[in-house]
Amino acid sequence: MFWWRKEVRPGISVAFSDDDAGNLALHVADNPDDVMARRARLEASAGLGERHFQFMNQVHGKTVAFISAHGEGPTADAMVSTGQPLAVMVADCVPIVLLGEVPHEPNGTTPVLAVVHAGRPGVAADIVSATITEMRGHGAASISAWVGPSICGECYEVPEQLRADVAAVVPETWSTTSWGTPALDLPAGVRAQLEALDVTVEYAGECTLETPQLYSYRRSQQTGRFAGLVWTHE
Ligand SMILES: [Zn+2]
Repeated sequence: MFWWRKEVRPGISVAFSDDDAGNLALHVADNPDDVMARRARLEASAGLGERHFQFMNQVHGKTVAFISAHGEGPTADAMVSTGQPLAVMVADCVPIVLLGEVPHEPNGTTPVLAVVHAGRPGVAADIVSATITEMRGHGAASISAWVGPSICGECYEVPEQLRADVAAVVPETWSTTSWGTPALDLPAGVRAQLEALDVTVEYAGECTLETPQLYSYRRSQQTGRFAGLVWTHE
């Protein structure tokens, strides 16, 4: 069900699902009833009770949506909430889960949660910084990141011009495949963007293409989507 799962702060968990949880996306020509049943099973495993993960309609854009109540998914590639459980779907793109805390007297905190879908366009457009700005707008301090499994810099082959274009904006993405052709290292680009904004990376996931239990679009274009998840316990 969960490739990786951890209670990262008291009462707050982060997880990334695997192929046992199954395809969680409605947009990949799967049976919608089956997808919704899998999402319900995932929510039960996470202990959400009556609550639901908020999914979004991801379009490789730069829109960050603030989620105050569960509802129809926004068209966005990042979401921020102050407690609503959030989900981001991927199969090679970089799923990022973020957590910040709003300190208040005498010694309590309110969590600020976020998820980000960072594919090649999102890394080039720096959707990471747009999301951090939104979180800090809600008072989040001391933000940490969990960077989930995604295709690695030795596997993600791209045309030479594309490598040049993206690396011109985010130099850390410049890479070469293990077989010697031009590539992009999106996880390295994301890490650079996070660290430039003083965000601590607490976890970095494996390569999806090299891990059979994780969905990879480059391995099979008829593939599902796994999810990066964050939720508060209740
Ligand atoms: Zn790889």
